Amino acid sequence: MQSPQQILEHIFGYAHFRDPQAAVIDTLMAGNDALVLMPTGGGKSLCYQIPALARSGCGVVVSPLIALMQDQVEALQEAGIRAAFLNSSVSYEETLAIESQLLHDALDLLYLAPERLLQPHTLSLLQRVKLSLFAIDEAHCVSQWGHDFRADYLQLNCLHEQFPDVPRIALTATADQRTRAEIARRLNLETARHFVSSFDRPNIRYRIEPKGNQRRQLLQFLRGTQKGSAGIIYCLSRAKVENTAEWLSQQGYSALPYHAGLPTATRAEHQRRFLREEGVMIVATIAFGMGIDKPDVRFVVHLDLPKSIEAYYQETGRAGRDGESSVALLLYGLEDVVKLAQMVEASEGSEEYKRHERGRLNAMLGLCEITSCRRQALLHYFAETLDRPCGNCDTCLEPPATWDASEAAIKLLSCVYRTGQRFGATHVIDVLRGSGNEKVRRFEHQQLSTYGIGKDLASSEWRALMRQLIVRGYLEVTGEFQSLMLTELCRPLLRGEVSLQLRRLPAKTSRSVSRDPA
Ligand code: ADP
Ligand code: ZN
Repeated sequence: MQSPQQILEHIFGYAHFRDPQAAVIDTLMAGNDALVLMPTGGGKSLCYQIPALARSGCGVVVSPLIALMQDQVEALQEAGIRAAFLNSSVSYEETLAIESQLLHDALDLLYLAPERLLQPHTLSLLQRVKLSLFAIDEAHCVSQWGHDFRADYLQLNCLHEQFPDVPRIALTATADQRTRAEIARRLNLETARHFVSSFDRPNIRYRIEPKGNQRRQLLQFLRGTQKGSAGIIYCLSRAKVENTAEWLSQQGYSALPYHAGLPTATRAEHQRRFLREEGVMIVATIAFGMGIDKPDVRFVVHLDLPKSIEAYYQETGRAGRDGESSVALLLYGLEDVVKLAQMVEASEGSEEYKRHERGRLNAMLGLCEITSCRRQALLHYFAETLDRPCGNCDTCLEPPATWDASEAAIKLLSCVYRTGQRFGATHVIDVLRGSGNEKVRRFEHQQLSTYGIGKDLASSEWRALMRQLIVRGYLEVTGEFQSLMLTELCRPLLRGEVSLQLRRLPAKTSRSVSRDPA
């Protein structure tokens, strides 16, 4: 049997492990459990594929994404690995063949959707064979507050009971501390070793500007980039993708459109040219990027606001994989916010889902409006702390004009506190602005010392301030009703030891997404 290092070289063709792959693999080789949090593209797959190959028996991978399952298995088979997947798209005959392979120790890796794994038939089959490990991909799907919640995932804790000797590894790219704890608890991974990678991409320079004349802004930006740089320009709509690509071509750039509405052959051709030729720009909807591994993308431009910080992080993360300096430029306008909010309202999801999506959109807007270091705020969103401003984002490099919002912030925080830290933004603002509505009366909040002390600012201004308090970590949004709570960070602000500066903006851009905060 080969060692992990040999497998890395001979089968996958890489010379070195990335941090923390080697340590994760050692943990599983020793028969222990692991919980891995790594940004997308970090290299999670090898963390379970290699120990599955290096240990005897078959490795079982649980994944909710059937399409990705198929891709991975095909890639593994091409590398000579005995891998298979079982899901509803696999024929009966094929299923029998795969089960027989499994029973005869002729499989290295078996990919399953959770509902398939949990079928009594599958479980009893697995009981009869030697297993090297269980890998639970997209482990945040066990979190009931997450937008990817899957009830099937909750039952995966049975693996611990039914296969106590098989090491388990849970992996995710999105998990704050709370979600991580929830994953560990729900999957019975309390004794698992945690591996938490940094989300920081220090070579990417973040720039976020309000939209003016966006074509002029884009042109100016492109003139500042090195000639022959490859880049991705994201737009919200297909029509905008096409007319932007056409316009850029007229300006002398090689810019190719990419969106799901183009013929497959055209898409493949544009992707191929982007990967192979120098200096090609792809103008795309978010359909572009999944599985694209081009190391030397020098810039990512968003001509419209992404719908969440996760999306922004993932899309900008396609720049600078080679570690060379790269730029992420975002142009945002109020009309984007309105459009995205409408898309949320028109979606099929439950009220709770919509509330969650509005929250994510508001957080994105908060990141745009921030006057302090963007990277600090971005990392804070992923529950990571950067001690110092980064020096490599626009707010660090060209500090924006601001006003001192400390006094207003203290009023707002006090009002959150006085109302008992169990209400959302709307109610807190109603109390601040002295509304006499039914809810205010029902809770007798007219009696509070903070009632009506905020009439000097409009609701929209209070919302902008609230978003800032949330992105900067003074306020936390929790629970089903998105209640606001103070964090430890508030103390120095409440004592007047630090000040809070807000960006001066034209009044209209400080409007909010909707009724809810964050
Ligand atoms: P994730 O699942 O974390 O998004 P993947 O496992 O898909 O990431 O890996 C992302 C890319 O990095 C893949 O192209 C993969 O082949 C590559 N990769 C992973 N580990 C290494 C390594 N040790 N050396 C070089 N490339 C690697
Ligand atoms: Zn910075």
